[in-house]
Amino acid sequence: MNYRKFGNTGEKISALGFGCMRFPEYEKDGKMYVDQDKVDEMVAEAYRQGVNYFDTAPKYCNCNSEEAVGRAVKGFRDKVLLSTKIPLDVCKKPGDYRRALEHSLDKLGTDHLDFYHFWGINRKEFDQTIMAQDLLADAAKAKEEGLIRHISFSFHDEPLAIKYIIDESKKRGIPMESMLVQYNLLDRTNEEMLHYAASNGVGTVAMGPVGGGRLAAPTELYAKLTGKKSIATYELAFKFVLGNPDLNCALSGMQTLDMVKQNAKLASDSTGFSKEEWQQLGEAMEQLKKFSELYCTGCKYCQPCPAGIEIPKIFNMFTYYNVYGLKDHAKKMYDNYVKDGGKLIEDCKNCGFCERHCPQHLQIRKELERVEKLFR
Ligand code: SF4
Ligand code: SF4
Repeated sequence: MNYRKFGNTGEKISALGFGCMRFPEYEKDGKMYVDQDKVDEMVAEAYRQGVNYFDTAPKYCNCNSEEAVGRAVKGFRDKVLLSTKIPLDVCKKPGDYRRALEHSLDKLGTDHLDFYHFWGINRKEFDQTIMAQDLLADAAKAKEEGLIRHISFSFHDEPLAIKYIIDESKKRGIPMESMLVQYNLLDRTNEEMLHYAASNGVGTVAMGPVGGGRLAAPTELYAKLTGKKSIATYELAFKFVLGNPDLNCALSGMQTLDMVKQNAKLASDSTGFSKEEWQQLGEAMEQLKKFSELYCTGCKYCQPCPAGIEIPKIFNMFTYYNVYGLKDHAKKMYDNYVKDGGKLIEDCKNCGFCERHCPQHLQIRKELERVEKLFR
């Protein structure tokens, strides 16, 4: 297993982390249970292979994940780093942070957490809940008492909000020590912020490192552009994430013993990508996108659209569909966007703002029409 310095936390983290959100489950009398025997086997194998970072959350696996991980690591608890999260919606009044923390400690059967994340936050929640309720002070107190060792956050927002959260917590005198963000070969939007975090001593963990295993297209192109032999898609995706020098750990939501073995092997490989290969692959992906008939760089100069249409998001779905060949996934993204009340071309006010600002000179309205027709 390869290990990396985990920001300024003083920890050495394994290149592969175990995301405990997809444990095997079964149903009995209308209730879901985690298959503890299988989890024990997978977790023990991961530990044997050198994985030392296990990440769970109160709501994973029908709220059973924390307890299952706690049981599975019992024999080697002090040799691994346990991470869980606090959902901000439980923080309504003073004392709620502490109650949630104690609940997680209890479920995990441990007297301390190594990493405690503010879960899936965005800039607004950071301001209106964490800062407004001074939850960082609660976290610092828990740290002083030895209940948590490091303060962390996981993130779902515009990349620049990462900088804001890191800077503001530092100004408050209680800096974030690690972060967990989405990052893979298909979704590199957080790449710049990974660099910012790493430069500021914040440990970095990527979720979804292989894009859910859906990557299909780039292997041949990679071979063509680099002159190297084509390697398996899954391996390529993994190596790309781990090849980023700003990333400390790739967190994989492993479901089977085979997955544990396969991922551990990749994360132990001494022939990881060189910086040059990593850059080549990134460029290859960009090239692939450029060949697309609709080349949106995701720069967001067309935003904000007064009608609320998330143009780059919709065009990105098209890239998944048309360039990477991930048709079902793209369709699902579109359906979720609509389900969440996302605005569409039918809401367009025809102000022309987007087209005036698009550096690619895309005929945005016409393209939206076309893309949406494809998904409807
Ligand atoms: S023209 Fe339509 S899509 Fe473009 S910015 Fe205006 S409202 Fe939004
Ligand atoms: S301005 Fe053009 S290239 Fe940039 S995100 Fe919008 S549509 Fe894409």
